[in-house]
Amino acid sequence: MYLYNSLSHKKELFQPNSQDVVKMYTCGPTVYHYAHIGNLRTYIMEDVLEKALRYEGYPVKRVMNITDVGHLSSDADTGEDKMLKGAKREHKTVMEVAQFYTDAFFSDCEKLNIQKPEVVQPATGCIDEFIKIVSGLLEKGFAYEAGGNVYFDTSKLEKYYVFNDHDEEDLAVGVREGVEEDTNKRNKNDFVLWFTKSKFEDQALKWDSPWGVGYPGWHIECSGISMKYLGEDLDIHCGGIDNAFPHHTNEIAQSESYLGHKWCNYWFHVHHLNTDTGKMSKSKGEFLTVSLLEEKGYDPMAYRFFCLQSHYRRNLVFSWENLDNAAIAYEKLVSKIAGLKEDGEVEEAALAQLRQKFASALNGDLNTSLAITAVYDVLKAKCSDATKRKAIGEFDTVLSLNLLEAADKIRRKQQEEASASVDPEIDALVLARTEAKKARNYAEADRIRDELKARGIEIMDTPQGAKWRKV
Ligand code: AMP
Ligand code: ZN
Repeated sequence: MYLYNSLSHKKELFQPNSQDVVKMYTCGPTVYHYAHIGNLRTYIMEDVLEKALRYEGYPVKRVMNITDVGHLSSDADTGEDKMLKGAKREHKTVMEVAQFYTDAFFSDCEKLNIQKPEVVQPATGCIDEFIKIVSGLLEKGFAYEAGGNVYFDTSKLEKYYVFNDHDEEDLAVGVREGVEEDTNKRNKNDFVLWFTKSKFEDQALKWDSPWGVGYPGWHIECSGISMKYLGEDLDIHCGGIDNAFPHHTNEIAQSESYLGHKWCNYWFHVHHLNTDTGKMSKSKGEFLTVSLLEEKGYDPMAYRFFCLQSHYRRNLVFSWENLDNAAIAYEKLVSKIAGLKEDGEVEEAALAQLRQKFASALNGDLNTSLAITAVYDVLKAKCSDATKRKAIGEFDTVLSLNLLEAADKIRRKQQEEASASVDPEIDALVLARTEAKKARNYAEADRIRDELKARGIEIMDTPQGAKWRKV
Protein backbone atom coordinates (compact mmCIF):
# COMPACT_ATOMS: atom_id res chain seq x y z
CA MET A 1 0.00 0.00 0.00
CA TYR A 2 1.35 3.43 -0.93
CA LEU A 3 0.65 6.16 1.60
CA TYR A 4 1.71 9.77 1.78
CA ASN A 5 4.08 10.15 4.70
CA SER A 6 4.13 13.69 6.13
CA LEU A 7 7.57 12.98 7.53
CA SER A 8 9.23 12.32 4.16
CA HIS A 9 6.78 14.55 2.24
CA LYS A 10 6.16 11.85 -0.34
CA LYS A 11 4.15 8.73 -1.08
CA GLU A 12 5.91 5.67 0.23
CA LEU A 13 5.34 1.94 0.13
CA PHE A 14 3.98 1.10 3.55
CA GLN A 15 6.20 -1.42 5.30
CA PRO A 16 5.49 -2.11 8.95
CA ASN A 17 8.29 -2.94 11.36
CA SER A 18 6.84 -6.40 11.84
CA GLN A 19 4.47 -8.52 9.74
CA ASP A 20 2.81 -9.71 12.98
CA VAL A 21 1.07 -6.45 13.75
CA VAL A 22 0.76 -2.89 12.49
CA LYS A 23 1.08 -0.55 15.43
CA MET A 24 -1.23 2.38 14.86
CA TYR A 25 -1.79 5.36 17.13
CA THR A 26 -4.57 7.94 16.80
CA CYS A 27 -4.84 11.24 18.66
CA GLY A 28 -8.21 11.07 20.37
CA PRO A 29 -10.73 13.80 21.14
CA THR A 30 -10.50 16.50 23.78
CA VAL A 31 -13.69 15.69 25.64
CA TYR A 32 -14.92 19.12 26.73
CA HIS A 33 -17.63 19.32 24.10
CA TYR A 34 -19.29 17.29 21.36
CA ALA A 35 -17.12 16.30 18.41
CA HIS A 36 -18.00 18.37 15.37
CA ILE A 37 -18.35 16.76 11.97
CA GLY A 38 -14.88 18.10 11.05
CA ASN A 39 -13.28 16.12 13.88
CA LEU A 40 -15.33 13.16 12.71
CA ARG A 41 -14.02 13.50 9.16
CA THR A 42 -10.57 12.80 10.59
CA TYR A 43 -11.83 9.77 12.53
CA ILE A 44 -13.73 8.43 9.50
CA MET A 45 -10.60 8.55 7.33
CA GLU A 46 -8.49 6.94 10.07
CA ASP A 47 -11.12 4.24 10.36
CA VAL A 48 -10.90 3.61 6.61
CA LEU A 49 -7.11 3.44 6.90
CA GLU A 50 -7.29 0.79 9.64
CA LYS A 51 -9.87 -1.23 7.69
CA ALA A 52 -7.88 -0.90 4.44
CA LEU A 53 -4.79 -2.26 6.21
CA ARG A 54 -6.87 -5.17 7.51
CA TYR A 55 -8.29 -5.70 3.99
CA GLU A 56 -4.70 -5.99 2.78
CA GLY A 57 -4.16 -8.71 5.36
CA TYR A 58 -2.32 -6.81 8.11
CA PRO A 59 -3.37 -7.39 11.70
CA VAL A 60 -3.66 -3.94 13.32
CA LYS A 61 -3.33 -2.89 16.94
CA ARG A 62 -4.76 0.58 17.31
CA VAL A 63 -4.51 2.82 20.35
CA MET A 64 -6.33 6.09 21.01
CA ASN A 65 -6.00 8.54 23.88
CA ILE A 66 -8.82 10.55 25.36
CA THR A 67 -7.63 14.04 26.28
CA ASP A 68 -9.26 14.75 29.62
CA VAL A 69 -6.52 16.98 31.05
CA GLY A 70 -3.81 19.40 29.97
CA HIS A 71 -5.09 20.69 26.61
CA LEU A 72 -5.09 24.47 26.83
CA SER A 73 -7.13 26.66 24.56
CA SER A 74 -3.98 27.75 22.75
CA ASP A 75 -1.61 25.05 21.55
CA ALA A 76 1.18 27.32 22.80
CA ASP A 77 0.62 26.20 26.42
CA THR A 78 -1.35 29.29 27.31
CA GLY A 79 -4.99 30.07 27.81
CA GLU A 80 -7.56 28.20 29.77
CA ASP A 81 -7.68 24.44 30.27
CA LYS A 82 -10.31 23.24 27.78
CA MET A 83 -11.73 20.71 30.23
CA LEU A 84 -12.07 23.34 32.94
CA LYS A 85 -13.85 25.60 30.49
CA GLY A 86 -16.33 22.80 29.73
CA ALA A 87 -16.90 22.11 33.44
CA LYS A 88 -17.59 25.79 34.15
CA ARG A 89 -19.97 26.05 31.20
CA GLU A 90 -21.99 23.05 32.35
CA HIS A 91 -21.69 23.44 36.13
CA LYS A 92 -20.29 19.92 36.41
CA THR A 93 -17.02 18.42 37.57
CA VAL A 94 -14.25 17.93 35.01
CA MET A 95 -14.59 14.14 35.26
CA GLU A 96 -18.37 14.30 34.72
CA VAL A 97 -17.83 16.42 31.63
CA ALA A 98 -15.12 14.03 30.39
CA GLN A 99 -17.34 10.96 30.84
CA PHE A 100 -20.34 12.59 29.19
CA TYR A 101 -18.46 13.73 26.09
CA THR A 102 -16.43 10.52 25.82
CA ASP A 103 -19.71 8.58 25.66
CA ALA A 104 -21.15 11.10 23.20
CA PHE A 105 -18.05 10.74 21.01
CA PHE A 106 -18.30 6.96 20.81
CA SER A 107 -22.02 7.16 20.18
CA ASP A 108 -21.31 9.45 17.19
CA CYS A 109 -18.60 7.03 16.05
CA GLU A 110 -21.08 4.16 16.17
CA LYS A 111 -23.58 6.08 14.06
CA LEU A 112 -20.85 6.68 11.49
CA ASN A 113 -19.57 3.07 11.57
CA ILE A 114 -16.22 4.20 13.00
CA GLN A 115 -14.84 1.20 14.81
CA LYS A 116 -13.69 1.78 18.39
CA PRO A 117 -9.91 1.26 18.61
CA GLU A 118 -8.69 -1.81 20.45
CA VAL A 119 -7.24 0.38 23.23
CA VAL A 120 -8.87 3.64 24.36
CA GLN A 121 -6.99 5.31 27.19
CA PRO A 122 -7.94 8.52 29.03
CA ALA A 123 -4.85 10.62 29.82
CA THR A 124 -5.76 10.87 33.50
CA GLY A 125 -5.18 7.11 33.81
CA CYS A 126 -1.49 7.24 32.79
CA ILE A 127 0.08 9.93 34.97
CA ASP A 128 2.89 7.59 36.10
CA GLU A 129 3.94 6.98 32.49
CA PHE A 130 4.14 10.72 31.83
CA ILE A 131 6.18 11.33 34.98
CA LYS A 132 8.60 8.57 33.93
CA ILE A 133 9.20 10.18 30.53
CA VAL A 134 9.57 13.70 31.95
CA SER A 135 12.08 12.38 34.53
CA GLY A 136 14.00 10.64 31.75
CA LEU A 137 14.11 13.82 29.66
CA LEU A 138 15.41 15.82 32.64
CA GLU A 139 18.10 13.21 33.30
CA LYS A 140 19.23 13.27 29.67
CA GLY A 141 19.35 17.07 29.64
CA PHE A 142 16.47 17.57 27.20
CA ALA A 143 14.29 19.31 29.75
CA TYR A 144 14.61 22.03 32.39
CA GLU A 145 12.64 23.39 35.29
CA ALA A 146 11.66 27.05 35.26
CA GLY A 147 9.09 29.03 37.20
CA GLY A 148 7.64 25.82 38.68
CA ASN A 149 7.04 24.10 35.35
CA VAL A 150 9.10 21.55 33.42
CA TYR A 151 9.86 22.47 29.79
CA PHE A 152 11.28 20.59 26.85
CA ASP A 153 14.41 22.30 25.54
CA THR A 154 14.08 22.43 21.75
CA SER A 155 17.57 23.93 21.36
CA LYS A 156 18.98 20.47 22.19
CA LEU A 157 17.57 19.02 18.99
CA GLU A 158 19.38 18.74 15.68
CA LYS A 159 16.11 19.24 13.84
CA TYR A 160 12.86 20.43 15.34
CA TYR A 161 10.56 21.23 12.39
CA VAL A 162 10.20 17.74 10.99
CA PHE A 163 6.99 18.41 9.06
CA ASN A 164 8.52 21.39 7.34
CA ASP A 165 6.09 21.62 4.48
CA HIS A 166 5.37 24.93 6.19
CA ASP A 167 7.21 28.16 6.63
CA GLU A 168 9.26 28.18 9.85
CA GLU A 169 8.06 31.63 10.81
CA ASP A 170 4.45 30.56 10.35
CA LEU A 171 5.04 27.72 12.70
CA ALA A 172 6.68 29.77 15.43
CA VAL A 173 4.05 29.69 18.11
CA GLY A 174 4.45 33.17 19.54
CA VAL A 175 4.45 34.75 16.11
CA ARG A 176 1.67 32.58 14.72
CA GLU A 177 -0.86 32.98 17.44
CA GLY A 178 0.10 36.41 18.69
CA VAL A 179 -0.19 35.00 22.20
CA GLU A 180 1.50 36.23 25.29
CA GLU A 181 5.01 34.68 25.48
CA ASP A 182 5.80 32.48 28.47
CA THR A 183 8.90 34.16 29.90
CA ASN A 184 10.07 30.92 31.53
CA LYS A 185 10.81 29.43 28.13
CA ARG A 186 14.44 29.51 27.02
CA ASN A 187 13.48 29.16 23.37
CA LYS A 188 10.28 30.23 21.69
CA ASN A 189 9.32 26.65 20.74
CA ASP A 190 10.01 25.05 24.12
CA PHE A 191 6.88 23.45 25.48
CA VAL A 192 5.54 22.40 28.85
CA LEU A 193 5.95 18.77 29.89
CA TRP A 194 4.60 19.26 33.41
CA PHE A 195 2.76 22.21 34.92
CA THR A 196 2.85 23.07 38.60
CA LYS A 197 2.31 26.79 38.15
CA SER A 198 -0.96 27.15 36.43
CA LYS A 199 -2.46 30.51 35.60
CA PHE A 200 -5.80 29.23 36.80
CA GLU A 201 -5.79 28.45 40.47
CA ASP A 202 -8.95 26.40 40.20
CA GLN A 203 -7.27 23.72 38.05
CA ALA A 204 -9.37 20.74 39.08
CA LEU A 205 -7.14 17.73 38.44
CA LYS A 206 -3.71 17.63 40.03
CA TRP A 207 -1.22 14.91 40.86
CA ASP A 208 1.89 14.69 42.96
CA SER A 209 5.16 14.61 41.03
CA PRO A 210 8.91 15.07 41.71
CA TRP A 211 8.40 18.73 40.64
CA GLY A 212 5.42 19.43 42.85
CA VAL A 213 1.67 18.98 42.58
CA GLY A 214 0.52 19.64 39.04
CA TYR A 215 -0.62 18.12 35.78
CA PRO A 216 0.88 17.00 32.47
CA GLY A 217 1.19 19.02 29.28
CA TRP A 218 -0.96 17.91 26.39
CA HIS A 219 1.78 16.56 24.10
CA ILE A 220 3.31 14.16 26.63
CA GLU A 221 0.09 12.17 26.90
CA CYS A 222 0.26 10.77 23.36
CA SER A 223 3.92 9.76 23.73
CA GLY A 224 3.21 8.13 27.12
CA ILE A 225 0.05 6.28 26.06
CA SER A 226 1.58 5.10 22.81
CA MET A 227 4.69 3.74 24.58
CA LYS A 228 2.61 2.08 27.27
CA TYR A 229 0.58 0.00 24.81
CA LEU A 230 2.73 -0.16 21.67
CA GLY A 231 6.27 -0.11 23.03
CA GLU A 232 9.25 1.86 21.77
CA ASP A 233 8.33 1.93 18.10
CA LEU A 234 5.26 2.84 16.18
CA ASP A 235 4.35 2.13 12.55
CA ILE A 236 1.81 4.81 11.89
CA HIS A 237 0.56 7.84 13.79
CA CYS A 238 -2.61 9.65 12.71
CA GLY A 239 -4.35 12.93 13.36
CA GLY A 240 -5.85 15.99 11.74
CA ILE A 241 -3.42 18.26 9.88
CA ASP A 242 -3.60 20.93 12.61
CA ASN A 243 -1.98 18.38 14.93
CA ALA A 244 1.19 18.26 12.81
CA PHE A 245 2.40 21.39 14.53
CA PRO A 246 2.98 21.82 17.39
CA HIS A 247 1.43 18.62 18.78
CA HIS A 248 3.04 15.92 16.63
CA THR A 249 6.27 17.87 16.22
CA ASN A 250 6.54 17.97 20.01
CA GLU A 251 5.55 14.32 20.38
CA ILE A 252 8.45 13.35 18.09
CA ALA A 253 10.88 15.68 19.89
CA GLN A 254 10.17 14.28 23.33
CA SER A 255 9.69 10.61 22.31
CA GLU A 256 12.88 10.33 20.28
CA SER A 257 14.94 12.28 22.84
CA TYR A 258 13.65 10.00 25.58
CA LEU A 259 14.07 6.75 23.64
CA GLY A 260 17.33 7.67 21.91
CA HIS A 261 16.09 6.34 18.54
CA LYS A 262 13.53 6.86 15.82
CA TRP A 263 10.01 6.41 17.13
CA CYS A 264 7.37 6.45 14.40
CA ASN A 265 7.85 5.69 10.69
CA TYR A 266 4.69 7.01 9.01
CA TRP A 267 2.59 10.09 9.76
CA PHE A 268 -0.91 10.19 8.33
CA HIS A 269 -2.60 13.59 8.43
CA VAL A 270 -6.18 14.24 7.43
CA HIS A 271 -6.93 17.68 6.03
CA HIS A 272 -9.71 19.85 7.33
CA LEU A 273 -13.38 20.09 6.87
CA ASN A 274 -14.03 23.77 6.27
CA THR A 275 -17.12 25.87 6.03
CA ASP A 276 -17.28 28.84 3.69
CA THR A 277 -16.03 30.97 6.59
CA GLY A 278 -12.99 28.79 7.33
CA LYS A 279 -12.01 25.81 9.48
CA MET A 280 -14.73 24.24 11.56
CA SER A 281 -13.74 24.44 15.20
CA LYS A 282 -15.22 23.66 18.59
CA SER A 283 -14.08 26.92 20.11
CA LYS A 284 -16.08 28.93 17.55
CA GLY A 285 -19.24 28.21 19.54
CA GLU A 286 -21.88 27.07 17.03
CA PHE A 287 -20.79 23.93 15.27
CA LEU A 288 -22.22 21.00 13.41
CA THR A 289 -22.70 17.68 15.13
CA VAL A 290 -23.96 14.28 14.00
CA SER A 291 -27.10 14.79 16.11
CA LEU A 292 -27.81 18.01 14.26
CA LEU A 293 -27.51 16.23 10.92
CA GLU A 294 -29.93 13.60 12.19
CA GLU A 295 -32.37 16.25 13.44
CA LYS A 296 -32.36 17.69 9.95
CA GLY A 297 -33.25 14.27 8.57
CA TYR A 298 -29.87 13.11 7.25
CA ASP A 299 -28.74 9.52 7.58
CA PRO A 300 -25.23 9.61 9.16
CA MET A 301 -24.19 7.29 6.30
CA ALA A 302 -24.78 10.19 3.89
CA TYR A 303 -22.10 12.14 5.80
CA ARG A 304 -19.69 9.20 5.72
CA PHE A 305 -20.33 8.89 1.97
CA PHE A 306 -19.71 12.65 1.59
CA CYS A 307 -16.33 12.27 3.31
CA LEU A 308 -15.31 9.21 1.32
CA GLN A 309 -16.06 10.99 -1.96
CA SER A 310 -13.05 13.23 -1.44
CA HIS A 311 -9.39 12.53 -0.78
CA TYR A 312 -8.15 12.80 2.81
CA ARG A 313 -5.30 15.11 1.78
CA ARG A 314 -7.60 17.76 0.38
CA ASN A 315 -9.58 20.25 2.35
CA LEU A 316 -13.26 19.47 2.13
CA VAL A 317 -15.83 22.23 2.05
CA PHE A 318 -19.04 21.52 3.88
CA SER A 319 -22.30 23.03 2.68
CA TRP A 320 -25.85 21.75 2.97
CA GLU A 321 -26.01 21.61 -0.80
CA ASN A 322 -22.90 19.42 -0.97
CA LEU A 323 -24.31 17.15 1.72
CA ASP A 324 -27.65 16.95 -0.13
CA ASN A 325 -25.85 15.87 -3.28
CA ALA A 326 -23.99 13.17 -1.35
CA ALA A 327 -27.23 11.99 0.30
CA ILE A 328 -28.95 11.70 -3.09
CA ALA A 329 -25.98 9.85 -4.60
CA TYR A 330 -25.87 7.48 -1.62
CA GLU A 331 -29.60 6.70 -1.88
CA LYS A 332 -29.31 6.09 -5.63
CA LEU A 333 -26.37 3.77 -5.13
CA VAL A 334 -28.18 1.79 -2.46
CA SER A 335 -31.34 1.47 -4.55
CA LYS A 336 -29.26 0.17 -7.48
CA ILE A 337 -27.74 -2.43 -5.18
CA ALA A 338 -31.26 -3.31 -4.03
CA GLY A 339 -31.99 -4.31 -7.62
CA LEU A 340 -29.43 -7.16 -7.46
CA LYS A 341 -30.88 -10.63 -7.07
CA GLU A 342 -29.65 -13.01 -4.45
CA ASP A 343 -29.59 -16.16 -6.53
CA GLY A 344 -26.87 -17.35 -8.95
CA GLU A 345 -23.29 -18.48 -8.58
CA VAL A 346 -20.26 -16.39 -7.59
CA GLU A 347 -17.88 -16.18 -10.56
CA GLU A 348 -14.42 -16.22 -9.05
CA ALA A 349 -12.50 -14.83 -12.06
CA ALA A 350 -14.84 -11.86 -12.37
CA LEU A 351 -14.70 -11.28 -8.61
CA ALA A 352 -10.90 -11.21 -8.70
CA GLN A 353 -10.99 -8.50 -11.37
CA LEU A 354 -13.41 -6.38 -9.36
CA ARG A 355 -11.30 -6.79 -6.23
CA GLN A 356 -8.23 -5.61 -8.08
CA LYS A 357 -9.78 -2.25 -8.97
CA PHE A 358 -10.88 -1.69 -5.40
CA ALA A 359 -7.55 -2.69 -3.89
CA SER A 360 -5.58 -0.50 -6.29
CA ALA A 361 -7.74 2.48 -5.28
CA LEU A 362 -6.98 1.91 -1.60
CA ASN A 363 -3.34 1.17 -2.24
CA GLY A 364 -2.89 4.44 -4.11
CA ASP A 365 -2.72 6.60 -0.99
CA LEU A 366 -6.18 5.61 0.24
CA ASN A 367 -8.10 6.98 -2.71
CA THR A 368 -11.59 6.54 -1.30
CA SER A 369 -13.39 8.31 -4.13
CA LEU A 370 -11.86 5.81 -6.60
CA ALA A 371 -12.83 3.04 -4.19
CA ILE A 372 -16.44 4.24 -4.45
CA THR A 373 -16.10 4.30 -8.23
CA ALA A 374 -15.06 0.65 -7.94
CA VAL A 375 -18.47 -0.04 -6.37
CA TYR A 376 -20.24 1.61 -9.34
CA ASP A 377 -18.03 -0.48 -11.64
CA VAL A 378 -19.29 -3.61 -9.86
CA LEU A 379 -22.86 -2.65 -10.72
CA LYS A 380 -21.93 -2.18 -14.38
CA ALA A 381 -19.84 -5.36 -14.65
CA LYS A 382 -20.88 -8.30 -16.82
CA CYS A 383 -21.15 -10.99 -14.18
CA SER A 384 -23.75 -12.62 -11.97
CA ASP A 385 -25.62 -10.69 -9.30
CA ALA A 386 -24.21 -13.09 -6.71
CA THR A 387 -20.69 -12.03 -7.73
CA LYS A 388 -21.66 -8.38 -7.49
CA ARG A 389 -23.21 -8.77 -4.05
CA LYS A 390 -20.16 -10.64 -2.83
CA ALA A 391 -17.80 -7.91 -4.12
CA ILE A 392 -19.87 -5.10 -2.62
CA GLY A 393 -20.06 -6.91 0.73
CA GLU A 394 -16.28 -7.27 0.78
CA PHE A 395 -15.62 -3.65 -0.21
CA ASP A 396 -17.97 -2.49 2.47
CA THR A 397 -15.80 -4.05 5.17
CA VAL A 398 -13.57 -1.03 4.40
CA LEU A 399 -16.06 1.62 3.29
CA SER A 400 -18.57 0.73 6.06
CA LEU A 401 -21.50 2.39 4.28
CA ASN A 402 -24.05 -0.33 5.21
CA LEU A 403 -24.45 -0.92 1.47
CA LEU A 404 -25.97 -4.41 1.54
CA GLU A 405 -27.95 -3.82 4.74
CA ALA A 406 -29.52 -0.63 3.40
CA ALA A 407 -30.24 -2.29 0.04
CA ASP A 408 -31.83 -5.31 1.74
CA LYS A 409 -34.00 -2.97 3.78
CA ILE A 410 -35.29 -1.33 0.61
CA ARG A 411 -35.96 -4.72 -0.94
CA ARG A 412 -37.86 -5.98 2.11
CA LYS A 413 -39.97 -2.83 2.04
CA GLN A 414 -40.69 -3.27 -1.66
CA GLN A 415 -41.66 -6.91 -1.07
CA GLU A 416 -43.91 -5.96 1.84
CA GLU A 417 -45.58 -3.30 -0.27
CA ALA A 418 -46.01 -5.70 -3.17
CA SER A 419 -47.51 -8.45 -1.02
CA ALA A 420 -49.68 -5.95 0.83
CA SER A 421 -51.13 -4.80 -2.48
CA VAL A 422 -52.44 -8.23 -3.44
CA ASP A 423 -56.03 -8.46 -2.22
CA PRO A 424 -58.68 -9.31 -4.82
CA GLU A 425 -61.52 -7.68 -2.87
CA ILE A 426 -59.70 -4.37 -2.49
CA ASP A 427 -58.43 -4.55 -6.07
CA ALA A 428 -62.05 -4.92 -7.19
CA LEU A 429 -63.15 -1.88 -5.17
CA VAL A 430 -60.27 0.21 -6.54
CA LEU A 431 -61.24 -0.85 -10.04
CA ALA A 432 -64.92 0.01 -9.36
CA ARG A 433 -63.81 3.47 -8.22
CA THR A 434 -61.77 3.95 -11.40
CA GLU A 435 -64.78 2.92 -13.49
CA ALA A 436 -67.05 5.30 -11.51
CA LYS A 437 -64.63 8.16 -12.13
CA LYS A 438 -64.52 7.33 -15.85
CA ALA A 439 -68.33 7.44 -15.88
CA ARG A 440 -68.12 10.81 -14.06
CA ASN A 441 -70.01 9.27 -11.14
CA TYR A 442 -67.85 11.14 -8.63
CA ALA A 443 -70.25 10.58 -5.74
CA GLU A 444 -69.80 6.80 -6.14
CA ALA A 445 -66.02 7.21 -6.56
CA ASP A 446 -65.84 9.20 -3.33
CA ARG A 447 -68.05 6.70 -1.53
CA ILE A 448 -65.68 3.88 -2.47
CA ARG A 449 -62.64 5.95 -1.41
CA ASP A 450 -64.28 6.61 1.97
CA GLU A 451 -65.20 2.96 2.42
CA LEU A 452 -61.59 1.95 1.74
CA LYS A 453 -60.31 4.66 4.05
CA ALA A 454 -62.49 3.29 6.84
CA ARG A 455 -60.79 -0.08 6.24
CA GLY A 456 -57.34 1.52 6.56
CA ILE A 457 -56.61 1.63 2.83
CA GLU A 458 -55.26 4.69 1.06
CA ILE A 459 -55.64 5.14 -2.70
CA MET A 460 -52.90 6.92 -4.62
CA ASP A 461 -53.66 8.15 -8.14
CA THR A 462 -50.45 7.74 -10.15
CA PRO A 463 -49.69 8.14 -13.87
CA GLN A 464 -49.73 4.32 -14.02
CA GLY A 465 -53.25 4.19 -12.58
CA ALA A 466 -54.71 3.96 -9.07
CA LYS A 467 -52.57 2.15 -6.50
CA TRP A 468 -53.35 1.39 -2.87
CA ARG A 469 -51.53 0.75 0.38
CA LYS A 470 -52.37 -0.02 3.99
CA VAL A 471 -51.87 2.97 6.30
P1 AMP B 1 -9.70 17.75 19.31
O1 AMP B 1 -10.91 17.08 19.92
O2 AMP B 1 -9.84 19.22 19.17
O3 AMP B 1 -8.43 17.35 20.04
O4 AMP B 1 -9.60 17.21 17.81
C1 AMP B 1 -9.79 15.87 17.45
C2 AMP B 1 -9.25 15.59 16.06
O5 AMP B 1 -9.98 16.34 15.06
C3 AMP B 1 -7.79 15.96 15.87
O6 AMP B 1 -7.15 14.91 15.15
C4 AMP B 1 -7.84 17.24 15.06
O7 AMP B 1 -6.68 17.39 14.28
C5 AMP B 1 -9.06 16.98 14.18
N1 AMP B 1 -9.71 18.21 13.66
C6 AMP B 1 -9.94 19.38 14.31
N2 AMP B 1 -10.62 20.25 13.52
C7 AMP B 1 -10.83 19.61 12.34
C8 AMP B 1 -11.48 19.97 11.10
N3 AMP B 1 -12.08 21.13 10.93
N4 AMP B 1 -11.49 19.04 10.10
C9 AMP B 1 -10.91 17.83 10.26
N5 AMP B 1 -10.30 17.42 11.40
C10 AMP B 1 -10.25 18.30 12.42
ZN1 ZN C 1 -1.89 13.30 20.18
